[in-house]
Amino acid sequence: MEGSVLANMRILLVNDDGIFSPGLKSLNSLAKNFTNDVWTVAPDTERSAASHALTLHHPLRVQKISPRTWSVTGTPTDCVYLALHNILKSKWPDLVLSGINRGSNIGDDITYSGTIAAAMEATLCGIPSIALSQMDNGDGTIQWKTAEHWGKKIIKCALQRDWFSSVLINVNFPNLTKSEVKGVYVSKQDDQHSSGKFEERIDPRGNTYYWIGQDKPKKRKLVQGTDVWALENGFVSITPLHLNLTHTPSLTELSKAFLD
Ligand code: MN
Repeated sequence: MEGSVLANMRILLVNDDGIFSPGLKSLNSLAKNFTNDVWTVAPDTERSAASHALTLHHPLRVQKISPRTWSVTGTPTDCVYLALHNILKSKWPDLVLSGINRGSNIGDDITYSGTIAAAMEATLCGIPSIALSQMDNGDGTIQWKTAEHWGKKIIKCALQRDWFSSVLINVNFPNLTKSEVKGVYVSKQDDQHSSGKFEERIDPRGNTYYWIGQDKPKKRKLVQGTDVWALENGFVSITPLHLNLTHTPSLTELSKAFLD
């Protein structure tokens, strides 16, 4: 993207909460601030925590829900794949927006996230991408209006900047009303990891089965400057994520260890 907001831009929307999720509705209103050429290709059911999975071993069915809106029996990454290589192959989107996810995607959680992975897939294809997530209340209610309000400012600003290749932008909105938000903070990814939780249950035939849950991360001192810190302190958090996973500081050390 070369410095300025594109005229007649095309935007692709995707998510991992499913085609009928309220966050996708909010994302659609958000995108309509920039263009009418908005397309949606999203999973038919919730695929949260699908990460960057591609479906290889069974077919994908698509359904046209309305003009420019398709549901897919696959993962968020399948949706972007299908959009770019089939539905929109004659004219790729200029921007991909993924979300707005129900619940934040911060710390180590982003490695599981289907929301982030959809943005990753578009980034790998060279398309500027933003993942957006709205922190939840813990009681089932979500302040979607906060994401819609602050998301507009952020997308506008992002479109006016040059975009680094292989970098996507991860945006998280705090659990506050739009006027309570303190501002925008550019943060780095925290290393917070949610503790795992398994429920062991018995089915009607007496067999044991398990259901993965999630405990709140253990209380610890927040590290200033991270995505977790920014959200807890009432800021919208913006983190640039790089898709090349090489850990550069280890290169020299490992070279010495293996080659000397
Ligand atoms: Mn989700």
